[in-house]
Amino acid sequence: MKTSVAGYPRIGSSRELKVAVEQYFRGKMAPEALLETGSRLRRTHWQKQMEAGIDGIPSNDFSFYDQMLDTAVLLNAVPQRYRDLGISSLDTYFAMARGYQGPAGDVKALAMKKWFNTNYHYLVPEIDSAPLQISGSKPFDEFLEARSYGIETKPVLIGPFTFLTLSSLAGGCTRESVAGELARAYAAILACFHELDAAWVQLDEPALVRDLDRQDIDLFLRLYESMLPSKGRVKVLLQTYFGDIRDCYEQVAGLDIDAVGLDFVEGKQSLSLVKEYGFPKDKLLLAGVVNGKNIWRNHYSRTLALLADLKKTGARIGIGTSCSLLHVPYTVAQETKLPEYALKHFSFAEEKLQELRDLSFLFSLENAEPEKIYQVNDALFQSDRIGKNAAVQAEVFALKPDDFTRFPSFEEREKLQKTRFRLPLFPTTTIGSFPQTAEVRSNRAAFRKNLICGEQYRQFNFDRIKECISLQEKIGLDVLVHGEFERNDMVEYFGEHLQGFLFTEKAWVQSYGTRCVKPPIVWEDVSWMRPITVEYAVYAQSLTNKPVKGMLTGPVTILNWSFPREDVSLEEQALQIALAVRKEVLALEEHGIGIIQIDEAALKEKLPLRRSDWHGEYLDWAIPSFRLVHSGVRPETQIHTHMCYSEFAAIIREIDSMDADVITFEASRSNLDILDALKECGFKTEIGPGVYDIHSPRIPGETEIMENLHRMLRKILPEKLWVNPDCGLKTRGNEETIGSLKNMTAAARALRTEFQS
Ligand code: GLN
Ligand code: ZN
Repeated sequence: MKTSVAGYPRIGSSRELKVAVEQYFRGKMAPEALLETGSRLRRTHWQKQMEAGIDGIPSNDFSFYDQMLDTAVLLNAVPQRYRDLGISSLDTYFAMARGYQGPAGDVKALAMKKWFNTNYHYLVPEIDSAPLQISGSKPFDEFLEARSYGIETKPVLIGPFTFLTLSSLAGGCTRESVAGELARAYAAILACFHELDAAWVQLDEPALVRDLDRQDIDLFLRLYESMLPSKGRVKVLLQTYFGDIRDCYEQVAGLDIDAVGLDFVEGKQSLSLVKEYGFPKDKLLLAGVVNGKNIWRNHYSRTLALLADLKKTGARIGIGTSCSLLHVPYTVAQETKLPEYALKHFSFAEEKLQELRDLSFLFSLENAEPEKIYQVNDALFQSDRIGKNAAVQAEVFALKPDDFTRFPSFEEREKLQKTRFRLPLFPTTTIGSFPQTAEVRSNRAAFRKNLICGEQYRQFNFDRIKECISLQEKIGLDVLVHGEFERNDMVEYFGEHLQGFLFTEKAWVQSYGTRCVKPPIVWEDVSWMRPITVEYAVYAQSLTNKPVKGMLTGPVTILNWSFPREDVSLEEQALQIALAVRKEVLALEEHGIGIIQIDEAALKEKLPLRRSDWHGEYLDWAIPSFRLVHSGVRPETQIHTHMCYSEFAAIIREIDSMDADVITFEASRSNLDILDALKECGFKTEIGPGVYDIHSPRIPGETEIMENLHRMLRKILPEKLWVNPDCGLKTRGNEETIGSLKNMTAAARALRTEFQS
């Protein structure tokens, strides 16, 4: 295996899978047709890789929703409540993914979490008393399917250690108590692949790049040592990614496996580990050198130097992607609008296949420099890609400590704001977006295609805003929003209106299930040109006496959900964006908007996976960037922020020190552990832990919401608690949105009555 791809995107180059799955959800596509779409996509992806000459082509990297969910189903980890529905296995699978509400019953979805430091979300398997054993055939079927086209693939599975550490355990199970059973299930999978005469199996173990203690390592060894004897003739590739495996390098090197995939893009210590401890002669070192997360061309001369360095250690080397290509778009070839001077710097999944081939070829030569492909590549990195924006750079350079501090203190602001807004106890609000109906999307599309003029486009949005405001008044919400009808995506929208970003037409990346995003590309220094959101916000506010929140995306999220530059630091990029968003905040305030929400949905996403890197590499610039955005507003202006997850107990103080006045976050779909942490640290910021899950079409009942609120009140002071859904409503339909919000406001009213009596 000279070249290997850890995983390939699966949503389809034109999002065919998204379209098909959503049609299926709406009852507009038969199950057979859905399966057929999956099979067509797999075939296309395998053929692409084969034509590109890749040796290690993955299979079982395809999924109708999520690969962790696939693994759970494969291993029989299907909680009883989903089995009880008694619906088809495909529908049970989707019920686990997104909940089910219908004739067969009413169940919530599994919890959803971010996949390590990416914007991909996986479903959290629940392991309970059901025995872990093979209960499906997906990996085998797909392997045979590829073989039927004459393509020998390398089946990919989430490894047992990662599966177990990411799962939630119920019914008295512990990691140790289920480890034996789990290892036997994996052993059986390996044995099946032996029967099928598969050459390689790839086990993905990204969980190994996090901080591990003795117990973790023992668990890992126990799983592998009891599973590996069953592999027979199958060669095992242990694939790690998103960092280095410094805590278990020697143990991994000592296992009876055939190849180890190490990440040399994010794995800061990967090289030094190999140098220091050597690499076992009986194994292949699969060097993850082609970045699976970013879209810039690989710099061949640097990569070849790294590979040469590795070779000196005596290791046998293959060349791979740093992680699955799931996190990058399909192909630059689909981009027709970007200038050639930019395009030549990009490399998406298909181009990365070629890079693997090029590198493998160049690496085989005594001297690669005379080669044309080498020279063309090197030229990309020789000159400055773009000019600098001196004004922006000077502004960043001139920043002083006071620019990062809002005055007066939180406590004083809180008092002033209570007087200004006179909100009831348990104020109700939403996170910003309202359903993006087909109408809303087609209006935007028509504008983009020049089928309607700017005036018509804006008028349509004004009409939607008007409806949205009156709907919110009818529902009885306290703090309103304009609804974000003009936004395709919370990051893309700002990227398009700031100087410095480039946009693609079809560079979609899967975020979860059928949801895809099209991240902007930070191309040059970023700056603010003119007000972006003021017009719609002011219009919305003119329609009501209730406060309307201005709605912005924060700098860390804009950066984390874009493809960042690699020629300047992330810190510098974040500060540039922060300065731009700050200007928008001040413009909103100047136009009478009293509450401004600055979403930092993705703040935690890029928190380094190892605790020792949290501050130096990330928080020390991420938190100040947020503070810079709002430190210039008046005391009585209320700053909200929103985060898409509640898993920030470990950085709770840093979150508080962002110094927002109110924070809302996702809490309904994960447990409410965060509340303990909030209480313990004496969290000062007012809080709206989401009271229901918007990632599912299910309508929560008033009592269910009340129960959630009561649980929250055990840990949160009543005067600090806000009532809101757990994220924006744009992916939902109108009907379920209205039903849910009505129940939510009814619950808040009932709670007020309880408190007043
Ligand atoms: N304001 C955004 C919205 O409501 C926030 C989305 C998010 O947190 N992902 O859509
Ligand atoms: Zn959110």
